[in-house]
Amino acid sequence: MSERIRIVGGGLTGILAAFEAHRLGWRDITIQERFEALGGVARPRVVHGQEMRDGCIYFGGAGDPIVETLSAHGATFEAFDNRFGSVSLGADERRVFTWDFGGPAVDCAATRISRPAGDSLADRIAAYPPAIAARLDAFCRWHLDTDLDLVQGEAAIPLAINRVFPAAADLTALAALKATDPWADELYAIPRGLSGRTANLSATLPVGGFSALFDTCHRALVQLGVKVELNALVSPRALLAAPQADETVVWAANPTPLFKPLGLARPDLLKKSFATYVFAVEFDGPCPVYVQNFTAQGAAFRVYLYESGGQTLAVAECVREADLAKLPGEMRTLMSGFGGLKVGALLHTDVKPRWIYHTLDAISGLKALRRELAGRFGTAFIPGAWEPYAKAAKLSEVNAALLAAREDAPALAPTAALAG
Ligand SMILES: Cc1cc2nc3c(=O)[nH]c(=O)nc-3n(C[C@H](O)[C@H](O)[C@H](O)COP(=O)(O)OP(=O)(O)OC[C@H]3O[C@@H](n4cnc5c(N)ncnc54)[C@H](O)[C@@H]3O)c2cc1C
Repeated sequence: MSERIRIVGGGLTGILAAFEAHRLGWRDITIQERFEALGGVARPRVVHGQEMRDGCIYFGGAGDPIVETLSAHGATFEAFDNRFGSVSLGADERRVFTWDFGGPAVDCAATRISRPAGDSLADRIAAYPPAIAARLDAFCRWHLDTDLDLVQGEAAIPLAINRVFPAAADLTALAALKATDPWADELYAIPRGLSGRTANLSATLPVGGFSALFDTCHRALVQLGVKVELNALVSPRALLAAPQADETVVWAANPTPLFKPLGLARPDLLKKSFATYVFAVEFDGPCPVYVQNFTAQGAAFRVYLYESGGQTLAVAECVREADLAKLPGEMRTLMSGFGGLKVGALLHTDVKPRWIYHTLDAISGLKALRRELAGRFGTAFIPGAWEPYAKAAKLSEVNAALLAAREDAPALAPTAALAG
């Protein structure tokens, strides 16, 4: 059992790992973050007291394990009615709004599906009837602008196409199919309003916003005796070359720089950039609320409305840099089923890649990386939960690895150092 634990990366994964390490009994805990504050990608820029969020982000409702952990350390959350909707193209190419459903609706009666021929997004899409597959294919090409054979099938989750509503299907037959065939249940959904399903009705947001949440976490960590080192960029090469005896490492950061020092090929990642635009808005419908755009038209794939600093803000998440003369109109149309939207001043723009759509090459590369790290360091090197898409799945993966390390890990052995 190691006495010291070093957590590289002060995003949500690193913060939760530090709390769990403390719960499991470690007392010499250091968290190292390359930037000047904790929070990682979920920490928004604050401009005049308002949070410029990069996209739609919230936590689960009552019982959410992350909310419970953070609440136990002083964070406060407020519940809200989780409202969302989607816009798809009907058979006549007109827009179809589906409320309280965040996936695509396709005007198709057929529900016959095949087993996927492989693990790619293209394989997953090809399992649907042709009318659905054609819509999904057009949407994914618009969204990702890449060869769908190269993308992992589960990227359907961050793309929000993991469940499709075949809008012309017989609902009773569809419900029966979902109940009897797990693959059909995974591919199809019936919108909340039509199924009577009441899950996911409530979600939570941190009181005071995400910056306040991460500042609270920082204070709680310091109170527990955790050393929080900011502006501390950790070199993977140095860390892997000279492992410290009696230290467990959690790499809760980008895995890409780990490949080369271990002599592994860096996998090909999806490098496309996405643009986000935050506007001050007035809205006469519910807030928070988001709408997904599955029409493969325009620039915004999602519009999310939230409150911050006493103002209603809207972030348009776009597949490319948008034409700013057209974007407000596009946002008004997407939100129109929920309420009237007046788009005011543009407050913030950001253009950057997102690492949430994994390529097949990344998944097999991460497998090789994990094998190599386990072979060299055993349970004393804990890889971040890089592959899962859901926050809760990431949490349980890292927690299980921490428990294994706490129970039986030899610390990073000097003999495991990189040669040369
Ligand atoms: C195959 C793959 C490739 C990825 N590539 C990238 C990438 O190139 N760039 C990227 O930003 N994300 C990348 N990610 C996403 C993300 O960084 C990781 O999944 C991360 O482990 C997620 O941790 P988090 O959930 O806490 O998120 P985050 O909020 O991203 O937190 C990670 C934190 O680690 C900090 N950090 C990163 N590197 C260091 C370092 N060397 N020393 C100290 N602190 C550090 C960051 O500033 C950030 O605060 C990639 C993910 C995968 C699966």
